[in-house]
Amino acid sequence: MRLDIVSIFPDYLAPLSLSLPGKAIESGLVDLRVHDLRRWTHDRHRTVDDTPYGGGAGMVMKPEPWGEALDELVPDAPVPDAPVPDAPVPAQLGRDDELQGNQAPDDRSQDDRALVGAPRLLVMTPSGRPFTQALAGELALERHLVIACGRYEGIDARVVEHARARMRVDEISIGDYVLNGGEAAALVITEAFVRLIPGVIGNPESLAEESHSAGHDGLLEYPVYTKPPSWRGLQVPDILFSGHHGEIARWRREQAVEKTRARRPDLLPAELREIIVGEATSS
Ligand code: SAM
Repeated sequence: MRLDIVSIFPDYLAPLSLSLPGKAIESGLVDLRVHDLRRWTHDRHRTVDDTPYGGGAGMVMKPEPWGEALDELVPDAPVPDAPVPDAPVPAQLGRDDELQGNQAPDDRSQDDRALVGAPRLLVMTPSGRPFTQALAGELALERHLVIACGRYEGIDARVVEHARARMRVDEISIGDYVLNGGEAAALVITEAFVRLIPGVIGNPESLAEESHSAGHDGLLEYPVYTKPPSWRGLQVPDILFSGHHGEIARWRREQAVEKTRARRPDLLPAELREIIVGEATSS
């Protein structure tokens, strides 16, 4: 995968050279290119922001540097009337897509589907689509992602409008709060999708039972333990020493359901929610 990240603080992205993303870059699975947006400015002060039309506090990122950056990073984006190829199958569909009956790529517009395989622009914004494990799984299969990190009051709205005509665009939020800039959001989503790129994690089975993964019904993960068996008076549950794989799997499933019910009932699969509600009303 080629991954371009554009920011006015490129040093903010330095942690991507560490840990798993770093290994993915070293091994060639990810070709990371971090760019300083100011490279596409032409004035002495390398200006990237200006006052908002209509008044109000704060500054807005100017469209020209973003337009030139995207022209250079995505020079040969196909036009929207290109043929529609088969939708790719995402590695890690998550619970939200299943609940909505979506296979992740199928909920895209016709124009979006026409651009499958084309570069995909991810614009970090608190007003974007919420980032999920399902979306991470989808991004892990892309060939070329460009991440735009906003600052100030955000990017002039025409940049996204213009980009939509020539590439797939997702405006993405990592949560219902406001950061100072998109760099931290870019780090978060990159870490989430890079670990799902086939080959990045040595044992892909370790992804299957994680919290939010489709293979685990979108449940939160069961509690995990390691040595020693007794620590500060707390014991590892006996079942985990039993050697009965079926029993252990059943116990883990129960723990996962219970944890999800207690912490995030909104994540429970519909059939489990019905059983739990039924049990509560009959008791
Ligand atoms: N005025 C904007 C608003 O109210 O929607 C907030 C701008 S914020 C101060 C500056 C930049 O931080 C945004 O352009 C975006 O790139 C990034 N950002 C802030 N919160 C974010 C979030 N929850 N998810 C993704 N990006 C975020």
